[in-house]
Amino acid sequence: MAGIDIEGLATVYPNGVRAVDGLDLQVADGEFFALLGPSGCGKTTLLRTIAGLESATEGTIRIDTSDVTRTEPGKRGVAMVFQDYALFPHMSVSENITYPLKVRRVAAATRHGVAERTAGELSLQGLLERKPGQLSGGQQQRVALARAIASEGKVLLLDEPLSNLDARLRLEARTFLKKLQRDLGITTVFVTHDQAEALALADRIAVMDSGKLRQLGSPREVFARPANTFVANFIGSTPMNLLPGKIAADLDGVVSVAGGSLPAATSSAGREVEVTVGIRPEYLTLSTSDVTGPALHGEVVVAENLGTQSLVTVDCDGTLVGVTVPEETEPAAGTSVSLTAPTTRVLLYNQSTGELLP
Ligand code: ATP
Repeated sequence: MAGIDIEGLATVYPNGVRAVDGLDLQVADGEFFALLGPSGCGKTTLLRTIAGLESATEGTIRIDTSDVTRTEPGKRGVAMVFQDYALFPHMSVSENITYPLKVRRVAAATRHGVAERTAGELSLQGLLERKPGQLSGGQQQRVALARAIASEGKVLLLDEPLSNLDARLRLEARTFLKKLQRDLGITTVFVTHDQAEALALADRIAVMDSGKLRQLGSPREVFARPANTFVANFIGSTPMNLLPGKIAADLDGVVSVAGGSLPAATSSAGREVEVTVGIRPEYLTLSTSDVTGPALHGEVVVAENLGTQSLVTVDCDGTLVGVTVPEETEPAAGTSVSLTAPTTRVLLYNQSTGELLP
């Protein structure tokens, strides 16, 4: 098993695009680590650079403390699963799984044993003699994983491993992947643009934008305390409310926003400060009766059913604020409501840089 240590890494394509732009990060031994970000942010390039399929322009990559920055891909101890699985169509499942061992001239009997064992681990028993074309998408994905695991790399690199599966299979494969990674304890880096997938699977998430790291943290940290408005916008199935607000010069402990106020850990230091107020719809409480203390007041515009929850949009003095409520308490359009939140859930961002205020 092995950790990955990346320092000052840049990958620049011949056309001058700095796809990875000065990145430092460490992946711990046995960790399930997600690279998350919008299309074009450089996550695939970073994964391919770790694998050695792209060469680093600057910086170093260490795997298990060895500097592999200039090591050829086959000698880095990494196994990669590609988005399209890249299975050999003319080979059986068994031959596909053990191909990396054949290349290393491992004896046929040993290869057979590895195929049997890995097929067992990945629920592929009974499919070893089939060709990839005779398998479902989910089974093909497991063959690709089996091949990566059978190659006995120290590190598993997965490029959007679930993106070719339909919604239902994707959920099933997600649970399978999480359990497999935990059972094997193999250091795993996976690329996804799906924030729900990253939140569900990863021990830690690196959120990237334009080749740079915007936040590194546990799913709980990046969800509850996004380090900047970019991450706040990107994470969460219902978008975070990001509203213009003001901290008054003479009043600590509240922030003025949307014609009302919310409690916040502020200290104005005697001057008025313009901020962006970040509050997740899940952390606001909606009441139809009177409330005491800091609150927003407004009228329900629309409610959308999300299953067990409803996302209610409230017009607070001309500012639209989203709040989730249990589906059975969904208020009708036009209802007058108040919104409150605990201090710890109200985040304040610098209005010009978008960075979270301390
Ligand atoms: P996606 O989710 O769409 O796959 P990504 O976050 O994985 O995106 P990359 O594929 O790493 O992003 O691309 C990062 C940047 O590098 C983009 O601006 C892309 O256009 C550029 N890029 C990618 N591959 C090449 C290449 N072979 N030559 C030149 N530029 C490239």
